[in-house]
Order: sequence, then structure tokens, then C-alpha cells
Amino acid sequence: MSGLAIITEACIDVKDRACVDVCPVQCIYEFDPNKNMLFSEAEAGSGVTENTHTANADAIGIFGDSLLYVNTDECTSCTACYEPDVCPVGAIYSEEVVPDGTSAKPYNSTDPNKNHDHTFFIQLSRDVFAD
Ligand code: SF4
Ligand code: SF4
Repeated sequence: MSGLAIITEACIDVKDRACVDVCPVQCIYEFDPNKNMLFSEAEAGSGVTENTHTANADAIGIFGDSLLYVNTDECTSCTACYEPDVCPVGAIYSEEVVPDGTSAKPYNSTDPNKNHDHTFFIQLSRDVFAD
């Protein structure tokens, strides 16, 4: 399956940025609450900002800077970030296979939140970007 990448709840408070390093288009963003801005880095931890977007206050208010967000308008569905050896907690899914709590959609083997409905994060990933 090769669809848009969606980061789900397992990323919360992990945020090791392994996905940022493999993304070829820098479309995985962190939230800076001081600037109310979402930013992506050229390389994780480099401090070199590649892209920025304004955050939607209501949507970003739910989880804030506790996880990372894929900008689905910029994601090329390259599949790199949801290869099984990238995210240490299995938080990233291709959009069309984000688990919905039914057995029809398998969970990543390392996802600690198995059996949860993760589909909330599909819309959230779109809503947090105000522009
Ligand atoms: S699928 Fe590719 S382009 Fe999309 S967020 Fe993941 S690494 Fe980036
Ligand atoms: S690799 Fe996984 S845990 Fe790490 S920042 Fe990306 S989504 Fe979050």
C-alpha cells in the first residue's frame, strides 16, 4: 500500500524524529507553540528550517507539540517513513490502511496502541495546517 502518510497516537511524547530523516520532501512538521507555527527541518535536529505553516488553533490545541504531523498536501506517498524499520513505535500508517479498530486493518507490529481506532488522526493531520 502506498498512500499518504499519517502519524498516529503512538508518536505522542516519543517524537524521536526518525521519520523526519527519511522524508525526501520535508513534509513532516513539528509545532512551535511560541510562534504558533508548524516547521519542518532539512534534517532532524539540524535547526535548519525547511518549510513553515501557520497552525489552526483549534486543531493544534488537541495535542500541540506532543507529536509530529505530516502535511498531506505535500506528502508524495513515497512510503519511506512507514517502512517497518523507521518509526520505533509503529506510529505511521499509509492513509488507506490506518487502523479503525476492526480486524480488517492490521496494526503495525510495534504499535503500542493496538485495537484503538486511529482514524481520528487522518482528519487531524489535515486540520492542524491553517495554510
Ligand atoms: S510517505 Fe514519503 S513524502 Fe510522505 S511523509 Fe512519508 S517520507 Fe515524507
Ligand atoms: S519516527 Fe515515529 S515516533 Fe519518531 S517522530 Fe516519527 S512518527 Fe513520531
